Parts: sequence; C-alpha cells; structure tokens
Amino acid sequence: MKLLIVEDESKIGDYLRQGLSEAGFVVDLARSGLDGHHLAMSEVYDLIILDVMLPDIEGFRILKALRDAGSAVPVLFLTARDSIEDRVRGLEQGADDYLVKPFAFTELLARVRTLLRRGKTPAAPDVLRLADLEVDFARRRVARANRRIVLTAKEFALLELFVRRAGEVLPRSLIASQVWDMNFDSDTNVIDVAVRRLRAKIDDEFEVKLIHTVRGMGYVLEAARAADGH
Ligand code: CA
Repeated sequence: MKLLIVEDESKIGDYLRQGLSEAGFVVDLARSGLDGHHLAMSEVYDLIILDVMLPDIEGFRILKALRDAGSAVPVLFLTARDSIEDRVRGLEQGADDYLVKPFAFTELLARVRTLLRRGKTPAAPDVLRLADLEVDFARRRVARANRRIVLTAKEFALLELFVRRAGEVLPRSLIASQVWDMNFDSDTNVIDVAVRRLRAKIDDEFEVKLIHTVRGMGYVLEAARAADGH
C-alpha cells in the first residue's frame, strides 16, 4: 500500500512518514504543494494525506486537480482547528475525510485504514483465505490451520501483496517497488531475505507450502504448484 503525504511543516511530515512506514506502508513525502501536485498527478497511490495550508499551492487545488482528472484516490485532508469553512469546502470538493491539527497518530492511522478499506470495491473482502491460510486485513491478523502467526509490519505488507495477487508470479522488481519503494537496481537480496523470513513463519511448519520460487522470474503464492524448488 503506497501513500502520499503532502505537508510543508517538516516536523509533521517527518513524523507522519516515519509512523506510517513503521506501520508497513510505502510512503512518499512531498514538502511543497508543487511537489505534491506533481506526484499526485503522476504516480499511483492508494491514499493521499493532504495538508490544506501550503505556501505555494493550496491543498484544495491539488484535490480539485485530482478529481477533475477523474482520480478517485481516497484523500484525507489536514486542517487547522478553527476553520469549519475549510472542512466543509474540502468535503464538498471530494475529500473523503479530514483530521484537525493537532491530532494523535493513532487517530490518523485508524482513519487511514478505514479509508483504505472503504476505497476498495465492495467485493474485496477484509478476510482472504487460501488453503488453510487466513489473512484478516481489517484486524491485521494472520493464521494457518487456526494457529495465529505474528508478523512484523513489513512481513504483513509482503504477505498482503502475495495474497491479493495469489497465483500471479511477482517479479522481485514489483515486490521491491510495492513493499520497499526501491528500484530493481537496489539490493534485491533484501527481498530474498524477507521472503525467506516470511516463509519461515508461514510455510516451514506446514506440509503444504504456499510461497514458491519461480526460477528466473520471482515468487508466487498459491496452494498447489509443481515442485519448482522451495
Ligand atoms: Ca501547512
């Protein structure tokens, strides 16, 4: 899940970026309205956190540009305590939710997760099952054969990608960009190590292996696959 934060106050921006990264999201931070506008219009995000008060371009203009371009990306905007007009205007212009500064990070995280769930098509369930693996996205819980498996935020993000695209061979380059925000040229060993750790938790103790290596191509998660090296 990739998020964009547009926030000119560096302390708040850094704080949000760090917190959301630790929660397992890939985060881009734009420190000006112009950068934010550029990124919002050129990259694909699952959600945008948009400060209204920006020195160069108002947050509302970025929101309007997005909606005019037909983007339905969920937008959570950040507004000052005393401006009710801003909140009304933001919601009228197509923001999905707002948060009044100052706010607690836990509150922001809860709103982000709610918006991400709401943004999905109604058919996308909160719980996905594959063989005896069960992933509950709403409660961030994983179990196999009804046994709870505890994952780190990064491991969960990696598993989420595998499960949501089950049966699809995922190249390391795609995993790198979706879970680490790295380019393929970066150290792909990071990905192999992370997959190995995830396998140790998800697969090692179980007879049916779910994560498979496809030589020369990448990894795939599926219940049944001809032996291709594990
Ligand atoms: Ca600001």
